This record gives sequence, C-alpha cells and structure tokens, in this order.
Amino acid sequence: MGLTERDLEVIWHPYTQMKTALPPVPIVRGEGALLFGEDGKEYIDAVSSWWVNIHGHAHPYIAKKVSEQLFKLEHVIFAGFTHEGAVELGERLIEILPANQRKVFYSDNGSTAVEVAIKMCLQYWHNKGENRTKIIAFKNAYHGDTFGAMAVSGRSAFTAAFDQLLFEVEFVDLPTESNIQNLKSQISNLKSKPACFIFEPLVQGASGMLMYEAEYLNELMAHCCGEGILMIADEVFTGFGRTGKPFACYHVQEQPDVMCFSKGLTGGTMALGLTTCTKAIYDAFLSDDRLKTLFHGHSFTANPVACAAALASLDIFLEPSTANNITRIANKHRAFGERIKHHPKVKTTRQTGTIFALEWETESDTSYFNSLRDTLYKYFLAAGIILRPLGNIIYILPPYCISNEQLDYIYGKIEEALNVI
Ligand SMILES: *Cc1c(COP(=O)(O)O)cnc(C)c1O
Repeated sequence: MGLTERDLEVIWHPYTQMKTALPPVPIVRGEGALLFGEDGKEYIDAVSSWWVNIHGHAHPYIAKKVSEQLFKLEHVIFAGFTHEGAVELGERLIEILPANQRKVFYSDNGSTAVEVAIKMCLQYWHNKGENRTKIIAFKNAYHGDTFGAMAVSGRSAFTAAFDQLLFEVEFVDLPTESNIQNLKSQISNLKSKPACFIFEPLVQGASGMLMYEAEYLNELMAHCCGEGILMIADEVFTGFGRTGKPFACYHVQEQPDVMCFSKGLTGGTMALGLTTCTKAIYDAFLSDDRLKTLFHGHSFTANPVACAAALASLDIFLEPSTANNITRIANKHRAFGERIKHHPKVKTTRQTGTIFALEWETESDTSYFNSLRDTLYKYFLAAGIILRPLGNIIYILPPYCISNEQLDYIYGKIEEALNVI
C-alpha cells in the first residue's frame, strides 16, 4: 500500500470532508519554499503550510538548534522548574514587543494562547472584585478552534454545531472612517461594562484575509483604553513580520494589554503558543490568597525543544536579510496587484505586507464553500503550487525566503487561471 492508501485507512484530517476531499498528497521532504512529493513532484508552499512557516522548510539552522536541544533536555515540568530556553525566549521577546508587555505565559498553540488571554482578562476583573464578563470581538473574527476561542470568533459554518454552547459575545464591525464614531458610542453604551476586547490587528486571516486600517484600529484602541476595557491583540497569524512590520501592533500607537502568538513563533517548526501581558494584569494575580492564581497550564508548557526552535527562528528573523525579504515580497505583491486589479474576473485585490489576497468575481456569494474553491485548488496543485483559496478568495502567504522566480511563477499561474477558468 502506498502512503496515501495507508493514510486513508487510519487518518482523519483537519478541516476536511473525508468523503469528498481529494486524497492527501504525500510529502517526503521540504527545502526553502519547496515541498517534495513522494512521486518527486515539487510544490511551492505559497500558504506557508497553514501560515506557520516563515523561513522555509527544514531550515538547517533551526534543525541544528533543535537537534542540539534534544540531546540536552527534551522537557521538564514548568511549574516549580525553569530552563534556559524559556527564560531567554521570554527576555528576547519582551525586548521587541510593545513596551508595556512584561510577562510571558507559555502554552501549546494559537487557540490555547487565546484561551489563556481570555482567562487572564476575565480573572483580572474577578480578582479585583469587579463583575465584568462581557467580551467584545469583531464580526468574522477567527481566534481558534477550542471552545473559548470559538466563542470569540464570528458565528459561521465552522461554529454552527456548537453555537448554543458558546458564550455570548458583543460582535462589532471592523472600524472604518465612516463608522468609527458609531462604534465608539456602541461600545460606551453597552449595558454592562465589558471585560475585554479581542481582535486580529489589521488582517482577519481565516475569514478571507479581510483588512482594515491601522488608523481606525488605533482610534478604537484609544477609546477602549479610555473605557478601561482590556485589549487582546491576537497576533497568532500577524506576528513575526507578516504585515510588513515585526508585529501588526507596530502599526498603531496604542498598546494592547495582552498579546497572543503561535504560528510563526517557532518558524513553523513545532507547536508553541505564548500569551504576553502587562505588569498591571500580572499584578492582579499576585496575592496571599491562593484563589487568585491563574489556574491554567498544559503538560508541555514551554517545551524546551519548541523554545529552542523559537529562539533559532528569532535569530533568523532578526537578521537584516529577513526584513529585506519581507519588503521585497511586499513590493512584488503590490506590483502584481496593480497588474491584475482591472481584470474582469478580479473583484478586488488587497495587501498588507507579505499577505496578498484576490477576490474572484463569481455569480454566487463570497463563501468558504464556493465551488470555485475546489477548481482553483486543483488547478494550482497541478501546477505545483499550494494555494488554498478561502472560497473565492485566493491568497498568497509565502515563507520569506521565497525567490522572485518562485513568486513570478505563482503570479503567472494565477493570471493564467484568471484567463482560462
Ligand atoms: C490560526 C489562528 C489561531 C489558532 O491557532 P492554532 O494554532 O491553529 O490553534 C488563533 N488566532 C488567529 C488569528 C489565527 O490565525
């Protein structure tokens, strides 16, 4: 039996309708922006393997650091014990995050980083003896697949089976020049004082790379700050250079109280989540009363091997060549957008840093289940490009090491698709 057949015997894949999905493509190796199939076929990973990879696959420097760590210490309980990698990663991140971020709490992935952020904010008010439990989030938000993360995500086909069990959230529109005043009064006029506001800064990834302007996010953040509403910036996707700056929050002057990271954190090498917070939040948990403890922790909290991967990824991230690559990709995306934006099949294009999205004109509504999606997915896969359209929205989100030739090949195939599909 080949790998695909063996897979189909035992595996249940994520976000996959197992009855109708194409059989999975067996991948045996990766290098730079490329993945290699069992049959030798090459694929350009234009979606960074679900947005996690930033420096390319099987990066030798990260591999070396991870391997060295494995021979030193693979794991240690993180309650009552500590280790060099966790502390060094905390120190180095605090150095480059917005100045008010002072403490680092580790977990396993983006969803758990969000769960921790929500629990920090809710328990902050609880510990202070204030009854504030309402959470504000954006419509169409995506914050992960665990229950708390789902609850603060927009209600959609993804959450439909669970909607009755998800706690109530105040969903507001993305801020624009025209609605910002209304948004502010909507928030001020809520019946109960909100505990916190969670948002994906500048780009809502899973809902179709929806983008909004830093200026109005900043205004909204300033307003929340004035109302004493804690702010959670979910940078699980936007962190580590995606938006053209190291963190999306670098685009605004206001600072969030809590930040969530995962995906690019380890360069896409392994699972690791991280939630950072201000001193004020941390201090609200300091007490002789044990009940004020943050009762949260995962078995693999601050796994030393994952921390080693994150530290190695950070080394590469801080090299000037990475910033140059990010600018190079952003410039090429921009030129491509200009070139195709008037094509009759292009409804709209948008871009923030290294994230490029194109909405394909269709008869039916823009939706995740748009059938065009499967056609496009297969078309690009046959051309040796991994693109996973979100409905009729094609997005390019490459590792920063992708070459100009590889980018041009992707652009060329998209233009070809626009002309033949
Ligand atoms: C992917 C994502 C998450 C969830 O991360 P997982 O590691 O998949 O659990 C949370 N928030 C945002 C903004 C994301 O894009």
